[in-house]
Amino acid sequence: MELNEGFADLGLSEPLLAAVAAAGYETPTPIQEKAIPLVLRGVDLLGCAQTGTGKTASYALPIIDILSSGTGKPRMPRCLILAPTRELAQQIADNFATYGTNHSLRQALLIGGEGFTLQEAALGKDPDVLIATPGRLIDMFERGRIMLGGVKVLVIDEADRMLDMGFIPDVERIVQTLPRIRQTLMFSATLGPEIKRLGKEFLINPKEVSVAPPATVAGTVSHAMILVDPAEKRAALRDLLRDEAVQSALIFCNRKKDVDIVSASLARHGFNARALHGDMVQYRRTETLAAFKGGEVNLLVCSDVAGRGLDIEAVSHVINFDVPYNPEDYVHRIGRTGRAGREGRAITLATHEEAEAVDAIAALVGGAIPLTTADGEPAALGAAPRERERPRRSRSRRREEPGAREKRPARKRARSAEAAKDRPPLKRAPDGESAEAGEGRRKRRPAKQSASSRDDERVTGLGDHVPAFLRDPLPALPPGAER
Ligand code: AMP
Repeated sequence: MELNEGFADLGLSEPLLAAVAAAGYETPTPIQEKAIPLVLRGVDLLGCAQTGTGKTASYALPIIDILSSGTGKPRMPRCLILAPTRELAQQIADNFATYGTNHSLRQALLIGGEGFTLQEAALGKDPDVLIATPGRLIDMFERGRIMLGGVKVLVIDEADRMLDMGFIPDVERIVQTLPRIRQTLMFSATLGPEIKRLGKEFLINPKEVSVAPPATVAGTVSHAMILVDPAEKRAALRDLLRDEAVQSALIFCNRKKDVDIVSASLARHGFNARALHGDMVQYRRTETLAAFKGGEVNLLVCSDVAGRGLDIEAVSHVINFDVPYNPEDYVHRIGRTGRAGREGRAITLATHEEAEAVDAIAALVGGAIPLTTADGEPAALGAAPRERERPRRSRSRRREEPGAREKRPARKRARSAEAAKDRPPLKRAPDGESAEAGEGRRKRRPAKQSASSRDDERVTGLGDHVPAFLRDPLPALPPGAER
């Protein structure tokens, strides 16, 4: 196979160039062009690049060349790669295997949700490269299964996601166990002040490379927002899936509970849908992802944590069942479609209650996303406040008004009949409300919220209400009485 000029110019070795050619890569992507020569030079690097830009190869290729020129010690990996999610860690491991095909480097993958036995066995084979999620790495370290004193290269991938997910304290703990003399590469989709602060903490005189302004969206993706009634979101989703030529879609919900509800609802209505979220055991996550990647399932309902960083070819649609709380998640979600120059479509179901989060997205992506009703009429969020503020008339009174029934759009009438199908046995949600009812009555939340705090939080403690028996002093007891 002819080796590519573009890659050859970057300083990579012949066996690596052969592996790159065998992977079918013809030209380096911008992040690869910028990062590979710097990593080969041994400098620290702060890279602003999203998954999908080819960033994994931008560090994996030079790291393979760096490691191949040295030898390791038993149970002391020379390269540590930290990733926030199991799926991303798995993808990185797959990429390392592809690029390292002409080298004899060993690698081990340490991720949560799987048993320890196989992973401990992999550690026993003295891996050169360790790819891990922070929690499982700390577990293994504390069990004395691994020593990190031989790490020469550290990669912190998706640092912004680590931050969102509350993993930074774990990363800090891990970094403290590493040699101070090492090369550190940190990648993030955004370079906000907090990421820059972390950069100062983990990196020494880093070179900064950036391949796209923070939070830009691919030009091949067309965006739309549909104004929906919170109580009719699932029906609106089904209409959308039928109207649009959806070959395959990722459907994002803000809460894990809704991921389950929406996927079960779609399946009941005959759609080929499955759920993917962080509470599922790992083998189910892997199996579901494989079924979606293989085309066996064409709708994957997922949470941000599970959907982040997925590298799946040819996803025709990304549908936001909920407007993401965090505007940057909008960019990450829709980055799952329109990949590798393909056309993609991103559709968001928005309710009036989500106006604040919609504004935050418009501010981030540099313009409002066209909003219409389900029938394609232009709409505006918060445009009907008077209507909404008016006391709600009961359904029966509305029906009594002449012509009230005829005025209901045909689509809504059809939905009512269909809705009977969509009524699963009422399930109690953890907060004591029925899971079904909870969907329409969700409280408005601030636009920005960390992933760790956003998923189905259970309220512990007493909240604002302190019961009187705790608040009030106890009445005095008669002399001699015992409590
Ligand atoms: P990443 O951003 O690392 O997740 O990469 C996204 C996708 O691009 C993966 O499927 C890679 O296999 C692919 N890729 C990476 N570099 C190149 C390249 N130079 N040419 C073509 N595809 C690439």
